[in-house]
Amino acid sequence: QPLQKRLTAIPNAQYGGRHAVTMLPGGGIGPELMNYVREIFRYCGVPVDFEIIDIDPNSEGNDDLEYAITSIKRNGVAIKGNIETKSEQTDTISRNVALRNELDLFVNVLECKSYPGIISRHQNIDIVIVRQNTEGEYAMLEHEQSVPGVVESMKVVTDENSERVARYAFEYAKNTGRSRVTTVHKANIMKLSDGLFLETSRRVAKDYPDIKHNDMIIDNCCMQLVSNPHQFEVMNMTNLYGTIVSNVICGIAGGAGLLSGKNYGDHYAIFEPGTRNTGTAIAGKNIANPVAMLNASIDMLYHLGHKHHADAIADAVYKTVCEDRIHTPDLGGSHTSLDVIQNIVRRLSEKTIHW
Ligand code: ATP
Repeated sequence: QPLQKRLTAIPNAQYGGRHAVTMLPGGGIGPELMNYVREIFRYCGVPVDFEIIDIDPNSEGNDDLEYAITSIKRNGVAIKGNIETKSEQTDTISRNVALRNELDLFVNVLECKSYPGIISRHQNIDIVIVRQNTEGEYAMLEHEQSVPGVVESMKVVTDENSERVARYAFEYAKNTGRSRVTTVHKANIMKLSDGLFLETSRRVAKDYPDIKHNDMIIDNCCMQLVSNPHQFEVMNMTNLYGTIVSNVICGIAGGAGLLSGKNYGDHYAIFEPGTRNTGTAIAGKNIANPVAMLNASIDMLYHLGHKHHADAIADAVYKTVCEDRIHTPDLGGSHTSLDVIQNIVRRLSEKTIHW
């Protein structure tokens, strides 16, 4: 069953023609990037109202997180920055992972299309990563054995979730006219867990005879991505390989500041920057690239059906990056985040848009 059809099972919150959306600014550069999104939306008169929820990374309890989950369940849609989880706090679970699990956002989709004119390792990249988003190595089931210095960590792979992700990958390929799905794994070492993921993908592939299916071991895959990325179209993989490969591809296509990622389940959707970085070191310096978060907001507008606004903002972002070349330092430029936003507003002002 096509995913888009299932996503409409619970309608998104709408009041008087306006959509309500949960906004989770997160830490680091998240709040400043969200302010830019709100500024651009206000300028364009986008009919979206944000319910802003700050999740305090230092809070002991999970009240903020529960409030966020309730809000997303009510609104159906959220946009988010990365919520910081300090690695030394071993008793605190990642709020990012908890959100995805609670809302059963089983798939993460990263459409990696390079921008012409951006200096990057490879040009004309057009790869889609379809990643399992709720289990695998992110099961967060770890414990120290009774023997000190011995830790066990569980990787959970289920037939059901492997099938849902593989089917999403093949449906995506079918609906977008792509001819190949590559399943990425390490089944030569993790014979049972990755073996199940691979076998499930092969089983699902039989339902799509027009789409070629091949598989590749994760280590070779990383090498192939760096040396010959054009061989890939749609990639299907488990959670940890997904985060690594996403960062590799964003790296070869221009860095962390450009691409956005989508998290889908049967009922809810969350939009965010593709590499899910916090950007603590560059926060408050007016140098963070706002494009990845703006792209997340554009994805969200398409999802909500606000195509005119999404097209207009996407066009202004594209012209700012590719034609006007207003680039922040991550892209080798010397412009500020505000320069980028002001240029996008200038580009939007040139349009006569009939909303
Ligand atoms: P931390 O939790 O320490 O912040 P992280 O895993 O979230 O770590 P970062 O260090 O935040 O990752 O990000 C990785 C790199 O990507 C950093 O060099 C950061 O400056 C850069 N980066 C992330 N987002 C952006 C952005 N929007 N614009 C420019 N650079 C960015």
